[in-house]
Amino acid sequence: MIAIEKGCRICEREQAVGDFCSTCAPLARRTFNRRRGRKRDRVVDVPTRAQWHAVLRRAWDGSAGHFRCEISGVRLDVNVPALYPTLDHSAPGASTDGWLVVSAAVNDMKSDLSLDEARKAWRLLASVAEGNRAASADLERHLEALKHFRPRAALQVLATPKGEEVEP
Ligand SMILES: [Zn+2]
Repeated sequence: MIAIEKGCRICEREQAVGDFCSTCAPLARRTFNRRRGRKRDRVVDVPTRAQWHAVLRRAWDGSAGHFRCEISGVRLDVNVPALYPTLDHSAPGASTDGWLVVSAAVNDMKSDLSLDEARKAWRLLASVAEGNRAASADLERHLEALKHFRPRAALQVLATPKGEEVEP
């Protein structure tokens, strides 16, 4: 068999062995479990293989030679916990599209919020952090009206004293 030299299907660089280069392969081959939670009883949307690969191609920064967080622009790096590439759904429950690859720290900060909700919360929080006390009231109203924060039932589980560890 003759190996035909061709580009990586994600970053298009030529050092691919098979379909992907060594940078993209572990990410491109990642699988997502529909079932989440301790009892695996929470079912979530996951991207198709084609959707996930499209996300990775979009997040690849060819001139820098690495992936970038699609919300913050920071470098994604599997060796740095806060920069670890994670999957995010920009509008949970809204559709099966709208997937983003996002650094783990930014994904945690975003929580269940939609991208629009998160951006507004971050702007207001930044304003509060810079000393604008009036922004607290705006932030409070914004948080009260969130559509995509964890449901009340999940909060009750989290509040259970001596409860077993739960995955938020
Ligand atoms: Zn590649």
